[in-house]
Amino acid sequence: MKNIYLLGATGSIGMQTLDIMRNNPDKFKLISFSYGSNIELAKKIIEEFSPRCVGTGSEEDTAILKKLYPDMCVFAGPIGLFVVATYGPGNKYPNLVVNALVGSIGLEPTFHAIICTRDIALANKETLVMAGDLIKAKAEEKGVKLLPVDSEHSALWQCMNGEDPKKINKMVITASGGSFRDLTRDELKNVTKEQALNHPNWSMGAKITIDSATMMNKGLEVIEAHYLFDLPYDKIETILHPQSIVHSMVEFVDTSVMAHLGTADMKIPIAYAMNYPDRAPIANTSPLDLVKIGKLEFKAMDFDRFPCLAMAYEAGRKGDTYPAVLNAANEEAVALFLADKITFLEIEEIVRDALDRHEGVKDATLEEILEINEAVRVEIRNRYEMKDGK
Ligand code: NAD
Ligand code: MG
Repeated sequence: MKNIYLLGATGSIGMQTLDIMRNNPDKFKLISFSYGSNIELAKKIIEEFSPRCVGTGSEEDTAILKKLYPDMCVFAGPIGLFVVATYGPGNKYPNLVVNALVGSIGLEPTFHAIICTRDIALANKETLVMAGDLIKAKAEEKGVKLLPVDSEHSALWQCMNGEDPKKINKMVITASGGSFRDLTRDELKNVTKEQALNHPNWSMGAKITIDSATMMNKGLEVIEAHYLFDLPYDKIETILHPQSIVHSMVEFVDTSVMAHLGTADMKIPIAYAMNYPDRAPIANTSPLDLVKIGKLEFKAMDFDRFPCLAMAYEAGRKGDTYPAVLNAANEEAVALFLADKITFLEIEEIVRDALDRHEGVKDATLEEILEINEAVRVEIRNRYEMKDGK
């Protein structure tokens, strides 16, 4: 039995995590979970899984849940996330924090879980992008495993099973191309939020779907891979693969290539991280039928077409707090786009501008990173809200 502490239970990854738990009640026990705003869904999760502790998105929700479930511990906001990640029946069973939060809000609970020496199944890619050096150092110090959930990183991790990291030539991360892969830059000028949210291969939360359309998602994944696998950026390549069947590959020094294939179903990498080091069957997944798919295509990445990816490599190579600024500016820009306040192409302009104006901080502390994140976001929000008001 593994104790599960689930951050972001009501989202796309969170709900799929619960589905795996639902089908394996003898393996996983939900001790705590957090959610942002969907209290009706949260109540259903409480009724079904009887957790001991819940983190909510507001004090109003906290009051409602405390009244309904007096024996349960309930806290709101960042404190709620902290309590969910660290809530403790101790170490009788193995503990696993699943971080399925979206955005920079995911960083602090990851840090607290590490301090508590809990292994983390990490879907929240923003954690390593914002604070890769710090999180890795802390995880090493505490002997904590960071188990990737993102399909590309799960693929790379599985390709590395039993392999010597010194024998890697390069890692190749595949990208579907997102909702606008067949449009020219000119055609991108007038695209809408609704079109951007319509991903051809994957059903995911809104932010990552927009990130896939701008290719920033691949950029965040390159930075995440750099930290997870200790590989320089020159050895992390990205290529276009419209079918999303080959989830990523590793080329070794003898030019052998190991690839991981699977259907576009996030339950596969989630279950791999949850069951690790075991492998287990997954309910309600269809096996990969390559004959039915017929052909797999690969194309060179076009950095002029997808400048967000180029900016992510640039920020990653510069290091220090540049990736945190890239992430903060992108997160705010995507929020503004989803609120119909800016156009699709303004997302990349906002990120470019934020990177150009930043002066990196070396060996930044968690507090400094969070301050920079907040300052970048507030500045962008104020600027565009003022513009909107004119
Ligand atoms: P989502 O938007 O569907 O869910 C996010 C969860 O976080 C929800 O439970 C929401 O209530 C909670 N949340 C959001 N803002 C919050 C806040 N301010 N305070 C507290 N809780 C808050 O997102 P998702 O698509 O499940 O993605 C989660 C993470 O996993 C992201 O980092 C994403 O990049 C990564 N990821 C997702 C997929 C996918 O298929 N969805 C694939 C690979 C990686
Ligand atoms: Mg991915």
